[in-house]
Amino acid sequence: MCYADTATNPDGTATAFCYCGWTEEHPTPDAADTAADTHERATDAAEAAFAATR
Ligand SMILES: [Zn+2]
Repeated sequence: MCYADTATNPDGTATAFCYCGWTEEHPTPDAADTAADTHERATDAAEAAFAATR
């Protein structure tokens, strides 16, 4: 599964990132946080669907 985190940039924007290589730029830390949560849930769902086919 993915573990996404966020980093606040000096200009006030924020970057959401994950060790899998996924990154997204967002105008606010809150938006980046939401995106990080969404990424984790999306990848968990994809892995569950993959596992169900095996
Ligand atoms: Zn990821």
